Amino acid sequence: MGIYTKNAQKILGHTLRNFNHETGVYQVVTPYNDHRGGGGNHSHEVHAFARTCGCGKWQNIKIPCSHAIKVLQGLHFNATSYIDPCYSLDNAIQTYAHQFEVIKSESLWKDVRGPRWVPDPQLLRAKGRPVKSRIRNDCGFR
Ligand SMILES: [Zn+2]
Repeated sequence: MGIYTKNAQKILGHTLRNFNHETGVYQVVTPYNDHRGGGGNHSHEVHAFARTCGCGKWQNIKIPCSHAIKVLQGLHFNATSYIDPCYSLDNAIQTYAHQFEVIKSESLWKDVRGPRWVPDPQLLRAKGRPVKSRIRNDCGFR
């Protein structure tokens, strides 16, 4: 299931509050939910014109989050048209439009210019199973 479809399903319990219609700023409050991580009942500031949300997802992945969809539908906009064109089928086709070449022998590869990445030996894991830091008790809870 696509990200947009999942987000669109979440808007049912969301509450939309007008904050500033002129600047396109709205508040969306998610319902309290004891069964979800975080518990819900969060307030998000959606900037419809700037295409940003306080949760950070809209501006980062360029697909309206559930809060943005709530606002856009509340304004009677087609929320799907706010999905960035980079996700369009045309773009996907263009990505693979060029001709692929057969990979040459490694001896013919050019040296890479720029910084050389070296692994940090401090971060290398030792052989064997990692040591558990969890302290077990009788009930199985921490
Ligand atoms: Zn959001």
